Amino acid sequence: MRKETTPGSSSPPDLGVLREDPRRAIDEDGIFCLICGGRFRQLTNTHLASHGITSGDYKERFGYNPGRALMAFALRRAYAERAIRVGLAAHIRLRPVVNEPELRRRGGVRPIALEERLTRRDLQLKTGLRRPQLVAE
Ligand SMILES: [Zn+2]
Repeated sequence: MRKETTPGSSSPPDLGVLREDPRRAIDEDGIFCLICGGRFRQLTNTHLASHGITSGDYKERFGYNPGRALMAFALRRAYAERAIRVGLAAHIRLRPVVNEPELRRRGGVRPIALEERLTRRDLQLKTGLRRPQLVAE
C-alpha cells in the first residue's frame, strides 16, 4: 500500500486530504489526529484535551459518526473481543440460584418441586378438572 502510512514512518500525513475523508485518518494500526497530524493507536481524551477539545467535539468537527471509535481498527477489535469475553465471564459467574433467594428456597435445580406438583394435582382434583385416577399400578 502507501509508504506514508507505514507504522513508524515519520513522514507527516497530508491533513488536507485526510480531512476531506476522515475515514482515511484511521487504519489497521493507527489513527492520525486531524488537528496536529500526530499518529497514535488511539486518540485519547487526554490528547484531545491538549487541543482544548472533547472527543464529541472532535467527531462533530471532522464529521465522524458519533459512535466512531477514535482508535486503530486492530485496537478496536481487541477491545470489542475483550468486552465479549468479560461479558461472557460475568454471565457465567452470575448464578441465579445464588442471587435470587426465591429460587434457592425452591431448591433451584428443580423449578417444580414434588410438593408443588402434589399441590397442583390436589387443586385439579378439587376443581374437577381431572378425574381421580387409580394410583395402584
Ligand atoms: Zn493532535
